[in-house]
Amino acid sequence: MPAINDMNGYFWCGGADGVLHIMKCGDCSLYFHPYQSCCSACLSANVAPAPVSGFGKVLSSTINHQPWFPHVPVPYIVALVELDEKGPVRLLTNMFGESVDSIVPGLRVSVHFEQHGDIFVPLFRPV
Ligand SMILES: [Zn+2]
Repeated sequence: MPAINDMNGYFWCGGADGVLHIMKCGDCSLYFHPYQSCCSACLSANVAPAPVSGFGKVLSSTINHQPWFPHVPVPYIVALVELDEKGPVRLLTNMFGESVDSIVPGLRVSVHFEQHGDIFVPLFRPV
């Protein structure tokens, strides 16, 4: 699990209320991830975490067969998901419990969270 700090706590712990939080520029409304202290589009420092819809689409996916971590069973699907909000905001995520053939580019997905203590890992599943 990631070490939580002032720059990532909103992302890893924000799911406690069932809502995904992503950094947003208060001036141009661009969402971005991961944390930056200013907006990459307009350079404004008026940025803060904001709730997002949690909906998006799969851009690409692959299957991992390598047992990188002993507590994570293989194989599992790794997917690149683009959120619906103005960005683009793209998250590399796991999709547990889905068949490999069902995860295709363009598939609509929504976020759900897997709790590990104080951390709520955002994962996605088809809608
Ligand atoms: Zn901006």
